[in-house]
Amino acid sequence: MLENLASTCENAGCNRTLQESDCMLVYQTEAGTRRAYECSCGAVTITVTK
Ligand SMILES: [Zn+2]
Repeated sequence: MLENLASTCENAGCNRTLQESDCMLVYQTEAGTRRAYECSCGAVTITVTK
């Protein structure tokens, strides 16, 4: 599954693996699909997939 890319929290010292259920927002840009994940620590991590 293409969606199954593992991403981790950007917060230094957290490094929690983000789950699909942490994905708060998905939107399309010219650069690709962006997903915003909100970790339980409160940090938001943005990933980009084409
Ligand atoms: Zn975190």
